[in-house]
Amino acid sequence: MKRELERILIHARKILRIAGTATEEGRSALQIERSVSRVLGREEQCICPECGYRFRGNGWDGIDAHWRAKHESVMPYSKAWPLIKAGSYRPSGKSTLPDLFAEE
Ligand SMILES: [Zn+2]
Repeated sequence: MKRELERILIHARKILRIAGTATEEGRSALQIERSVSRVLGREEQCICPECGYRFRGNGWDGIDAHWRAKHESVMPYSKAWPLIKAGSYRPSGKSTLPDLFAEE
């Protein structure tokens, strides 16, 4: 089971890298990436939920400059950040990405 999940994670990250979060495929991949990372106890990648930009290096370093430059008009950074950090940010005009393995 664990090995299968790891393979899924690798594929989801690949799709995400290619498609970004602007497409349905990319958003599904992001949802899978988050959910599987959580199940495996791995650290989730820090990916901008609005555009799919992947933060490299130290966690969310740079998110504030990125957000202010690109998405400040969508939602002020001060309001968006707590949501992004909690994984519950809802991209403009799109539905949320519930945890695939969350129990009802
Ligand atoms: Zn972005």
